[in-house]
Amino acid sequence: MKKLIAGNWKMNGSLEANAPLVQALLMDASGWACDVAVCVPPVYLAQVQALVHGNRLNLGAQDVSTHEAGAFTGEVSAAMLKDFAVRYCIVGHSERRHYHQESDATVALKAQRALAAGITPIVCVGETLAQREAGLTEEVVKRQLAAVVHTNGHCISEIVLAYEPVWAVGTGNTASPQQAQQVHHVLRTQLQAASQHADRVRILYGGSMNASNAAGLLAQPDIDGGLIGGAALQAAAFLSIVAAAG
Ligand code: PEP
Repeated sequence: MKKLIAGNWKMNGSLEANAPLVQALLMDASGWACDVAVCVPPVYLAQVQALVHGNRLNLGAQDVSTHEAGAFTGEVSAAMLKDFAVRYCIVGHSERRHYHQESDATVALKAQRALAAGITPIVCVGETLAQREAGLTEEVVKRQLAAVVHTNGHCISEIVLAYEPVWAVGTGNTASPQQAQQVHHVLRTQLQAASQHADRVRILYGGSMNASNAAGLLAQPDIDGGLIGGAALQAAAFLSIVAAAG
């Protein structure tokens, strides 16, 4: 299946810095063999939408409200994201689970809101270092995915899943290709039990993926792309990951 490389800019960027970054990506786009997206802060959706318009670079968001509309100050709804032609939306990133206490049920509802608006949720799951050391990795990721399966039923084959071990996100410590593949296989098996279309779900790896480790990770049978944080802020680094996915 076609791989997906999605950049997560997190709370980075500026009107001034975004334009040359996106333009550098677009210069390379004709050679891409995989799907590519950038998930930008909501205030920059209009800017980046205008820059990528009609091009191969897909627009993504980093979060969505569990609510449809109304008195929820500061929230951004799925319909609002759709207004800006958002194609992908990260939900359940470990930073949101940790800093904003997002529960598995909240994440599942966010995925549902995105799907209902025609936006593909990139659902993040992953264990902390303490959980890995306690031998709980499989239990944790299965519980996180089960909530999304439970809430989204047959639509589950429409999601993108991202395995992001918390100990690897933003730390420079990457899971080895074997460690990542082992968890991806567990997730694939769980998806297969939930949907006959599970084989078309892309399972991304995220966690300090960079130009030098991408090829080994992306060569694994159940790793269908990457969710890239730090390396997505530099065009050359991001593009070399895109090239490794080709
Ligand atoms: C992320 O934010 O999803 C991520 C994987 O970050 P980094 O690549 O910086 O570890």
